[in-house]
Amino acid sequence: MQDSTSDQDDRSAFYLDVLRELVAQPTAPFHEERVAARIGQWLREWDIPFAVDAYGNIVARHQRGAPCRPLVLMAHMDHPAFTIGAAGGPDGAHFTAALEGGVPARAFAREVPVRIYPRRGGARARGITGRIIGYLLGAGPRDVELHITVDDATSIGDIARGDFGVWDLPLFEVRDSVIHARVIDDLAGCAAILLALHAAAGAGWPTDVYGVFTRAEEVGLVGARAALEGGALPREGIIVSLEASKELPGARQGDGPVIRVGDRATTFSERAELVLKAAAERLGSNIWHPSRPATTAVQRQLMNGGQCEGSAAVRLGYQATGLAFPLGNYHNVSADASTATTLVPETIHVRDYVTGVALLREAARLMPELPDLATQEGSQDGRYAAHVARLAASAHIIRSIVDSR
Ligand SMILES: [Zn+2]
Repeated sequence: MQDSTSDQDDRSAFYLDVLRELVAQPTAPFHEERVAARIGQWLREWDIPFAVDAYGNIVARHQRGAPCRPLVLMAHMDHPAFTIGAAGGPDGAHFTAALEGGVPARAFAREVPVRIYPRRGGARARGITGRIIGYLLGAGPRDVELHITVDDATSIGDIARGDFGVWDLPLFEVRDSVIHARVIDDLAGCAAILLALHAAAGAGWPTDVYGVFTRAEEVGLVGARAALEGGALPREGIIVSLEASKELPGARQGDGPVIRVGDRATTFSERAELVLKAAAERLGSNIWHPSRPATTAVQRQLMNGGQCEGSAAVRLGYQATGLAFPLGNYHNVSADASTATTLVPETIHVRDYVTGVALLREAARLMPELPDLATQEGSQDGRYAAHVARLAASAHIIRSIVDSR
């Protein structure tokens, strides 16, 4: 049955509300506690069981009905940011800090406004504002020392080594169907997983879906690898790595979520991708059977702009695939070199996000039917049977010519 337009509008509004609330939580590699707390609150509210593993990853699960192959949706809760190091620094800096994650050092050639979140004191919730006034490049491209001053010198005493800070950017805004947010990568992935779990649990679908919310992806897929090696995830699970990934030719913003056939390092699994293709087909995409007409836009592409958690899963022997939202201003670096500031909000298209959530819902729902779907794969609209009979009937011609030489 088709949803009415207003149902779809309500649903899209809810999807955007969840993302808006999630991106209001500041996050950094190793400092995902605020995002994790909000995720835990929703899971409890929606009655979805979950556990926190030995590394602080959150593993949620909806399971009903007869046993089936599990779908394991995975996204990371961190985003490039920084951790406070020593007090003092060059040019009157109040602190030095270590960059955590892949932001090119040239992004700090101009002053960058920041917000630091101390673990103690009255400024815990809203943070302390300051600026990055300089940087020092170390041995590797990711060894970047940042030099920071705070705006209100009386708050210096509240900040301690090990506190984290983020770029002080506008949190969330929708303009011309494009979402601009301080963090899209990968809180959009976390939101999409939450919404798929919410749909599955709310309707009581007979299926088996995990939501895995990982830590410290931006410094090398650390939380994902620990979760995959930790034994809490089913070996036979189909892993889907959710990501916001740099827009590319063939993976354009507004043209739909992207079934990700691989990343910069690794080719993903066709067996796993079948789940997303079948889900896309149920939404009206022709990505699985390109000769059919399409009513919903879904893309399929090798997203080689970065590495994602699917890579870790494939290396560890899982069947894995990915779903990506084409991302603008990847890691907050402006795609437009003419802008006055170098760090800006990331962007994704509302349509890609909303269709992506719908696709995950369908994927979650179809898992019990997966064995049947796998057999449909080779049947190209019945034409194979007719054509292969013609091959057999004409094989004697080839044989007589080849044999007579
Ligand atoms: Zn990233």
